[in-house]
Amino acid sequence: MKRKRDLSNMSGKRDYYEVLGIEKNASSEEIKKAYRRLARKYHPDVNPGNNEAEEKFKELSEAYEVLSNADKRRAYDAYGHAGARAGDAGFGFGDMGGFGDIFDMFFGGGMRGDARTHSGGQAGADIQADVDMTLEEAAQGVEKTLSYARQELCDVCSGTGARAGSSPETCRQCGGTGQVRQSQQTILGSFSTVTTCPICRGEGRIIKDPCEKCHGQGRNRVSAKHKVTIPAGVESGNTMRIRGAGDSGLRGGPSGDLYVRIRVRTHQIFERRGDDIFCEIPVSFIQLALGDTIEVPVLNGKSNLHIPEGTQTGHSFKLKGKGIPNINSGARGNQYVIVRAVTPTKLTDEQKQMLLKFADSAGITLNPEESKSFFEKLLGK
Ligand SMILES: [Zn+2]
Ligand SMILES: [Zn+2]
Repeated sequence: MKRKRDLSNMSGKRDYYEVLGIEKNASSEEIKKAYRRLARKYHPDVNPGNNEAEEKFKELSEAYEVLSNADKRRAYDAYGHAGARAGDAGFGFGDMGGFGDIFDMFFGGGMRGDARTHSGGQAGADIQADVDMTLEEAAQGVEKTLSYARQELCDVCSGTGARAGSSPETCRQCGGTGQVRQSQQTILGSFSTVTTCPICRGEGRIIKDPCEKCHGQGRNRVSAKHKVTIPAGVESGNTMRIRGAGDSGLRGGPSGDLYVRIRVRTHQIFERRGDDIFCEIPVSFIQLALGDTIEVPVLNGKSNLHIPEGTQTGHSFKLKGKGIPNINSGARGNQYVIVRAVTPTKLTDEQKQMLLKFADSAGITLNPEESKSFFEKLLGK
């Protein structure tokens, strides 16, 4: 389990909850209130000619539009800004545009440490989990239940870390700030440094009588399960974000996110290149010469392929729309079937005679003596 980076700002937009200054679990009433309060402050009528206020108002309206709509809010919670945009299109996995943005957003970014503080509390860390699937599952979309370990808020002490009936005390060393100032006299003068309080380790409080379940940690490591709906068209390396499914925050801090990294297993028959799939089918040279209709594998089934008379080995047939749906547009790629002639190895004498007869009628010389003279002829001897 790796700790992941906070990439929520990769889209260049601020978190909608942050814009409205509310918690992730805010009620619709709280969202409305926060919006009204800020809208009054930044409304263009109140701030004529103020570009900054105008931008703020736009941002605010956008955040409110998404968070005030239950469907859009759900999409945003699950997939961030791209999810909210997808929500505009009715939020169906198969047909929504812009899905690629969600995946592209998650490569690179800045590290988010375990101790990031957030409005007084400590945010939970992000968690990365891998999910394996077959090419067929990637092609049609799949629902997977992920099992992973996460830090969950202690249900005995509700995260305070203190035993029932007691409560944490403010650290006397730092007075609850979590930091201590030290003055040092040097030949260059007096220096003052601020360091993390060694007594409370920056917590600002001390638990004298720790909770018996979490031993004062406020959280317990549990095995969690989360059902994820993976859209059709994903490929190895794509990552999905599940908001709030990471470690629980402490002292009111927000929970981290769960990053689901997709791994599509190598297929026995098909090779994938983008949205197209390729396969090679061995056939007899007789089928290529005379023409035939053969059965070929396609994703989740079989299909008939007509080989016309006189087809060369290595020829590639295109099965239109039999590939993988594009994750953004939903348009399906193609399947390419490459036919390869297989040389027969265990011929009976009778079959050999027939082939010699065929060679003769086709003007193909097999006799070693004559082929020698052929090369001599070729070399001009
Ligand atoms: Zn506890
Ligand atoms: Zn302290």
